Amino acid sequence: MNIILLGPPGAGKGTQAARLVAERQMVQLSTGDMLRAAVKAGTPVGLQAKAVMEAGELVSDAIVSALIGERLDQADSAGGAIFDGYPRTEAQAHALDLLLSERARALDFVVELQVDEAALIERVVGRYTCAKCGEGYHDRFKLPMVAGVCDVCGSTEFKRRPDDNAETVRTRMAEYRAKTAPILPLYEARGLVRRVDGMADMDAVGAAISGILEA
Ligand code: AMP
Repeated sequence: MNIILLGPPGAGKGTQAARLVAERQMVQLSTGDMLRAAVKAGTPVGLQAKAVMEAGELVSDAIVSALIGERLDQADSAGGAIFDGYPRTEAQAHALDLLLSERARALDFVVELQVDEAALIERVVGRYTCAKCGEGYHDRFKLPMVAGVCDVCGSTEFKRRPDDNAETVRTRMAEYRAKTAPILPLYEARGLVRRVDGMADMDAVGAAISGILEA
């Protein structure tokens, strides 16, 4: 099964993708994670992408589609892929169709996480993760049980994404509205879109997505 999780920054795509990975034999293909890894490693792609990401703008279609193509060729994605943060433009949507058909694969669903944009800014700006195990926290909604100590692994180091500040989040939302939301009608015409209330609590969103995949 191959599915796309679609929604603006902070809609919960990453959280729900991680949940699906834990429950099913699927891999999470997050272009954001791949790009952050490239920036950290200082690869040519990372050097090109860094400033664009910090500004909240979109990295070129060619770069992200190449990253997805490479990842689809790794054996672990054969059981199914969850596209998280890709495609983000019409050109990427067409590239993905091609990448899948070349591998005799096809999309099963496009799950749109519907959210209230005003609430998203607060969600995104307050979020941070454990630097060691990646567990997610939030300044208001989910503090560690012991201040400064990760509930899961006990680490005392945490990190925040440099693009999770109010100004950049606004640009990322504008990019979503202008370039990503317009790809929904393409998938709607193919009968692939399923809508989920992304403002519900994490477990309810997860249950709704599972219901769609099992239908
Ligand atoms: P994300 O982790 O999905 O929020 O992505 C973080 C940043 O990486 C975005 O704001 C973009 O600058 C870049 N990025 C991630 N995925 C894509 C994509 N599919 N197309 C273009 N840029 C992307």
